[in-house]
Amino acid sequence: MTVVPLDPASPASHAVGIDFDQTLVAHDDGWQDGRIYGKPVPGAIESLHALKRLRSVFIMTARPRRFHAAVAGWLREHSGLETLVDEDPERAYWQGDCLLVTNKKLGAAVYIDDRALRFTGDWTATLAQAHHAIGLPATPART
Ligand SMILES: [Mg+2]
Repeated sequence: MTVVPLDPASPASHAVGIDFDQTLVAHDDGWQDGRIYGKPVPGAIESLHALKRLRSVFIMTARPRRFHAAVAGWLREHSGLETLVDEDPERAYWQGDCLLVTNKKLGAAVYIDDRALRFTGDWTATLAQAHHAIGLPATPART
């Protein structure tokens, strides 16, 4: 299988998507009812600015919508960048000058996420990595 290369002409291949919890913000004391209490992960804000100078950036979170305004507020407070909470259910990609906060997986050149594996077309390797990530042996025992 060949991984389809990015198309620089496509807006869906342009942006950078960055996960929020444990990628930008460190929540070392757990969920805490969803309160956003953490400090930036070291290097996160500088990297956010560096990527923002190059590409449109959206912040993706699995948090329910009721938390999105607080996510945007934390980002504004710590980065000084403008934010927009995604209100468009049909949005498929992001091209904009501010940080979009969304819980949709929009088209992107790359996603930065503390829970991700990189899929390169090899499901044998990916399955082994997935087993490891969820705490199982890399090679499942055959029965
Ligand atoms: Mg995360």
